[in-house]
Amino acid sequence: MGESKQKSRRRDQILAGELRCIYCMNPPSTVEHMPPKAIFPRKHRLSGMEYASCEPCNHNSRAADTAAAIMARISPTNFIDALELQEARRLLATMTSIAPQFVRELMDPSKVSPVWEKGRDAVFGPKRRIELDGPVSHALLTAFAAKIGMALYREHIGQPLPKAGVVFTQHYLNSGLVRGEAKALVSMMPDSGELKQGRKSSGRLFNYRFNTDERTIVAALVAFNDNFFVRVFATHDERLKSTLGDFHERLPVPVGGLPALASIWNPRRE
Ligand SMILES: [Zn+2]
Repeated sequence: MGESKQKSRRRDQILAGELRCIYCMNPPSTVEHMPPKAIFPRKHRLSGMEYASCEPCNHNSRAADTAAAIMARISPTNFIDALELQEARRLLATMTSIAPQFVRELMDPSKVSPVWEKGRDAVFGPKRRIELDGPVSHALLTAFAAKIGMALYREHIGQPLPKAGVVFTQHYLNSGLVRGEAKALVSMMPDSGELKQGRKSSGRLFNYRFNTDERTIVAALVAFNDNFFVRVFATHDERLKSTLGDFHERLPVPVGGLPALASIWNPRRE
């Protein structure tokens, strides 16, 4: 069987029986990979975590996926990997064309400060700490976090987050995730997940801790390349929504809320 035939068969299998997109109430027509291929070096992504999605949600959130792929690559390393650098440059070029404001916010010299920090090899060296808090970066990383929250809900509860559902999100860049908070979060999340294929697993590139009642809520802390972290609570339970709302400054992303976020990074849309 040819590769394209295999692909369309796989697509049919994933879409079979799915009445709606995992992100909104529209009927699905495409396969969404969450996390996206762009997160992985050379786009070498193990299979699994593929979901039915509508074309607009899948297509319009490409900028959010690319922003996350860039954040996952900005690591506190003491050596420069040529491939990593090449891929980061390509991702930045993509962002320059689809969400240029993100690149301006990322490159803003007033948000970069020199620090001495440990690298992956545990050796201290000069690093640059980036504060990324502009409106477009915020919208993109929030959209990405909401996507992963809805995907994990589908993964562990077996159906898309219902219409009344929302995702509370938080993202942490470089050393933004304080050790104590991470420890406390991980202790609340007894189960773990990653992509697996045969003996291979996504390991450091993508793994998560989670907790769920298998009915109404999925809570997860997701790590990308040990560098970019996302914390999500996905639920449709009214009581849980109001309790979580009391603890979050940010508004949660509702099911179907991706187009509104997309209009922030691409004002021509909508
Ligand atoms: Zn959709």
